[in-house]
Amino acid sequence: MLQAKIDTHTHTIASIHAYSTLLENIYAAKEKKLTGLAVTDHAPGLGPGETFNKSYFGNMRKAIPEFVHGIRILKGVEANVIDHEGNLDLPTSTFEKLDIVIASCHEKVVKPASSIEHDRIWENIAKNPWVDIIGHCGNGNYPFTHDKIIKLFKEYDKIVEINSSSFPYRKNARQNCREIALLCKKYGVKVSVSSDAHFVTDIGNFTESLTMLEEIDFPQELIVNRELETLLASLPKCQ
Ligand SMILES: [Zn+2]
Ligand SMILES: [Zn+2]
Repeated sequence: MLQAKIDTHTHTIASIHAYSTLLENIYAAKEKKLTGLAVTDHAPGLGPGETFNKSYFGNMRKAIPEFVHGIRILKGVEANVIDHEGNLDLPTSTFEKLDIVIASCHEKVVKPASSIEHDRIWENIAKNPWVDIIGHCGNGNYPFTHDKIIKLFKEYDKIVEINSSSFPYRKNARQNCREIALLCKKYGVKVSVSSDAHFVTDIGNFTESLTMLEEIDFPQELIVNRELETLLASLPKCQ
């Protein structure tokens, strides 16, 4: 059976539309026998305001210990793609203070367009050295040329997220994620499975993602968050 021991995408009350504290999430991670938890609140585009966000993300590494109750805490952000050039809504000076950066497209921030624009977004994100994880790219509102872009993620050593929250509510997510995962398997692209929890009860919930990956006989060794060591080895800012 496939497994993952670190939740690489979670939100706290700092995201405003999420409802648990970091400490509550940490206790839940411990209960679920995870070894690590990435706290990846939304950047300004979907968060409470730029000033708050910059100081919030900028102080995390200083304020939060590396381990809390035995859980490795990865300080991160879910940055928003803000335009069809793949620009993000936080500066490099903030990214360099973090362990893990997810780049995601959200309908409230970047307008869905055609696959030409979405290909350009992901081409530029692939080349962005500060981005570690490609967030929920199976969202059917942002179609892109899967084969070409997944190969590019391999070339630039990006991690492709298989987001468990996407399956029930993002357009065609189940079918798209399956197709994307099959290409990751074909080209040897690393994936992370994540809960994208907005409430404590969802921490460590990878069921939808792992079930789909099992169905396609996905190799465990490409799931980068199977162990803490393999995840850390894939994050340049944790070296
Ligand atoms: Zn998101
Ligand atoms: Zn999220």
